[in-house]
Amino acid sequence: MTQLVWFRNDLRLADNAALSAACAAESPVRACFTITPEQWQAHDWSPARVQLVMASASALAGELARLGIPTHFIHARRFDDSLEQIEQLCRDQGISRVHFNEEYGVNERRRDKTLHQRLQDLGIQVHKYRDQTIVPVGEILTGKQQPYSVFTPFFRRWRAWIEEHAPRVLPLPGLRGGPLQPPAIGAIPEPFLSAMALPEPGENAAHRQMEQFLEQGVYRYREQRDFPALEGTSQLSPYLACGTLSGRQCLVAAQQALANGVNPDGVWTWINELAWRDFYIHVLYHNPRISMHRAFKPETEALQWNPPGTAFAAWKSGHTGIPIVDAAMRQLNETGWMHNRLRMITAMFLSKNLFIDWRLGEAYFMSKLVDGFLASNNGGWQWSASTGTDAAPYFRIFNPVTQSERFDPSGEFIRRWVPELASLDNRRIHNPGKGGTLPLDYPPAIVDLKSSREDAIARFQALKK
Ligand code: FAD
Repeated sequence: MTQLVWFRNDLRLADNAALSAACAAESPVRACFTITPEQWQAHDWSPARVQLVMASASALAGELARLGIPTHFIHARRFDDSLEQIEQLCRDQGISRVHFNEEYGVNERRRDKTLHQRLQDLGIQVHKYRDQTIVPVGEILTGKQQPYSVFTPFFRRWRAWIEEHAPRVLPLPGLRGGPLQPPAIGAIPEPFLSAMALPEPGENAAHRQMEQFLEQGVYRYREQRDFPALEGTSQLSPYLACGTLSGRQCLVAAQQALANGVNPDGVWTWINELAWRDFYIHVLYHNPRISMHRAFKPETEALQWNPPGTAFAAWKSGHTGIPIVDAAMRQLNETGWMHNRLRMITAMFLSKNLFIDWRLGEAYFMSKLVDGFLASNNGGWQWSASTGTDAAPYFRIFNPVTQSERFDPSGEFIRRWVPELASLDNRRIHNPGKGGTLPLDYPPAIVDLKSSREDAIARFQALKK
């Protein structure tokens, strides 16, 4: 009775429900991972993300081989083609049970449902696990048995659940035979080639980074997390997105840091962010339509967005004439990562000041981010555009210049990414068009912040009529 574990965005040995369940039995275990470039393109995956995912899958196959578990890399084009190959693998290897951790996008659910049916028809058992979040999806509901759509009450309930259930990490699986030769994953598919520097792949690198952050950074997190010039956050998002690290592992490590009694506020602030990740996954689980480009608030579907045109091109390349927006977009384009405060500023600028459809911004972020993650990206965009759950009220629109003065007071971050402005003083650097001549190679602002803000508010108010 051989079992198969299908790894997807849970590329880790430790604390993996599907792997752990398969390894609980004595029978042989095999693993597989599917490489589906056309599907990844359709989902706007970035070259950086694909490279990190493939490198992490390869590292995982090495770790599995060490334990005596062989991995099969399945090359298909789309989800549909991959199913046939998984079925074939099951027939060839005499698989009687397939285990996987659930994913919640609409296409992923359809894929899993189809596979489940097809395997059942072959007499193969399918075991699915809700392992992507700290509090399993579907576990917590409002008093009226409805899914939460506002973070604060969700967090209260989430925290109570944690206290009640004290989540623990699952143990590493033991040896299941002599070490094997790990398989080669093959070349990175052509659309995803890029020379961008990536985070070090694999579970061990993820753990090192988490431990380093929890030794020091977490205690300063509350004070530093909003300042993009500082390394004030964990930068663990690429690992959480591809599952080389689990939210539960982060929580348990953070609880150990809490036990030290040093600056518990800092640690709790970080745990709060882990809960945001859970929140957006729960929202996606209960509202799969948001993964099909639908606004969470249906009435906002009636908004008439501006045509993207040259303003969208200027936003993407970091040439809007608003320094903090340009610095952020250039950081994204060059590194595949962007600081959370800047994600909010750039997303609000696109969806409110330029009044360009948030879906275009969501897709552009996804096509660049190394940590691109459907639930969080969609949640962050819909929050910024005031179309989503727990959205910023439509009249609360960040002024990017004020944000810049507050969170990059000496202009250090702007100077790093917009060298054209490096010689400006700490005051002018945030708004170089005001009271002076612009550096020759820097554009004037493409939009007036005050009138565009008023226009956005008026368009949202018109929805109510
Ligand atoms: P830390 O501050 O150290 O937080 C720890 C972890 O908590 C993060 O790694 C992340 O997994 C989670 N987290 C933190 N903040 C949030 C949040 N607001 N929402 C959900 N989870 C959070 N995060 C992604 O992982 N992938 C995305 O594609 C993504 N797109 C975003 C788009 C927009 C418009 C916005 C506003 C936010 C987006 N976020 C996304 C959330 C957040 O910006 C990143 O998770 C964070 O910047 C990652 O940096 P970090 O690992 O240093 O975070």
